[in-house]
Amino acid sequence: MLRTYGLPKESRASHAHFLKSHGFDSVVLGPDETPLTIQPALDANLNVWSCRPAFSVRHLPSPEAAPYLSQDPDGHPLIWFGSGCPNEPALRQAHLHYIRTVAESGAFAGFMLDGIRFASPNAGDAFFTCFCPRCAAQADALGYDFDAMRRDVSALRHWCRSADASPLAADPDSLLAPLLIRWPGVAEWLRFREACVRDHVAEVRAAVDHLNARGAQFQLGAYLFAPLLAPWVGQDYPALAPLLDVISPMLYRTLGPGDACLTTEWAGLAALNLLPSRAEFTPRDVGRQVRLARESLPATSRLVPILQLADDLVAGVTAAARLAAPDGLDFFVYRTGHERYVALAAPAALAATTPPAP
Ligand SMILES: [Zn+2]
Repeated sequence: MLRTYGLPKESRASHAHFLKSHGFDSVVLGPDETPLTIQPALDANLNVWSCRPAFSVRHLPSPEAAPYLSQDPDGHPLIWFGSGCPNEPALRQAHLHYIRTVAESGAFAGFMLDGIRFASPNAGDAFFTCFCPRCAAQADALGYDFDAMRRDVSALRHWCRSADASPLAADPDSLLAPLLIRWPGVAEWLRFREACVRDHVAEVRAAVDHLNARGAQFQLGAYLFAPLLAPWVGQDYPALAPLLDVISPMLYRTLGPGDACLTTEWAGLAALNLLPSRAEFTPRDVGRQVRLARESLPATSRLVPILQLADDLVAGVTAAARLAAPDGLDFFVYRTGHERYVALAAPAALAATTPPAP
């Protein structure tokens, strides 16, 4: 699979043919698309996937969104990634309803889950969520110690904000162990986040399977945080693998300032004094994340990492990613003016892989 996220609306037919002529077979498009608006892509024989943030409150005016928001350990509501609490039934139902509508239209090849997580380090104060009554009830139902979670996450937040805090570890691999020894409730919190995310992905999988039982072949994929970041937001690659047809780690080398970007999420952990700041990610760093994803997944999982398109090093990043034997590649984001990056990425994505020099 060779795919882009995004396809310009202006001159869409010509952009679709441009991608097709460079070897692309698929595009992923956002929530404002309809069978009519995607027709130029279908006419160019591109498979079109749909995507929408899972727990979005972006469509709601703030007073209406307020009751759905995540809460910090003190009960203050906070928004992250335009999203509310992942355990809010109304948001879960709206997400399921959207996916069913997309699948039933028959025009889309599949759906990519996005924002299927809790708040990330880049969300600042909202990272230390969610302690709302919905999550308290869910923790109780799943057998997690909500009070221990709230107490230790609150203590961690206090430590992160204290002026004399110095980085707890040199890199993410060595960060979790000291953190979890010091604040065991934080381990409970991360496990709880993961259980809630998996619970909703399982709901979506069941809905898609139900529709496919009637003869459709609609696929379900997910945009996930890089392996180095995934534990912080409640995403576990091996646990999600059986529920997904396609797994796409988001590996944007220099992109910012949004959530999920390698640079900004690392900076978020550094701002919390959990990690030191670091130099720019290299193509090799991105390749390592693809390898970690590959190693954590069963061989049957379809791994299609999504790389930053508008990157002068996109050819090198693509080549580095391919060394880890993904099943395809995706590129974020294709806009008018990005044709030159497509022309750089496509040959690297389609070239025969050569093993690294000994
Ligand atoms: Zn909550």
